[in-house]
Amino acid sequence: MSDPAQEKTLTELAPASYECSACGYIYEPAKGDSSADIAPDTPFEDLPEDWRCPVCRVRKSQFRNIGARGAPSGFQDNLSYGFGVNQMTPGQKNLLIFGSLALALLFFLSLYGLH
Ligand SMILES: [Zn+2]
Repeated sequence: MSDPAQEKTLTELAPASYECSACGYIYEPAKGDSSADIAPDTPFEDLPEDWRCPVCRVRKSQFRNIGARGAPSGFQDNLSYGFGVNQMTPGQKNLLIFGSLALALLFFLSLYGLH
């Protein structure tokens, strides 16, 4: 089992990607930049100062931090969707529970009827 707290820490430690504000190119540290002999897993901060956007050749200063990619972004939002149970009123939840029980009872009765 994976520990959610551990995953959060790993996400926070993941190097950030940077987007070129001129052309939209995204430097992903995990990929590096093969056109400039930048090895994979090179953080943007460690790129040489004369490194330029491989697409439009602007300087590093033209890039902006867009955060770690591949992180489970929106995970918190998804939690609230779930199966919709969290948005139900207590009455709806009771209806769901008793409805399930009634279905289970019907299921058992039908099985019993088959014998
Ligand atoms: Zn660019």
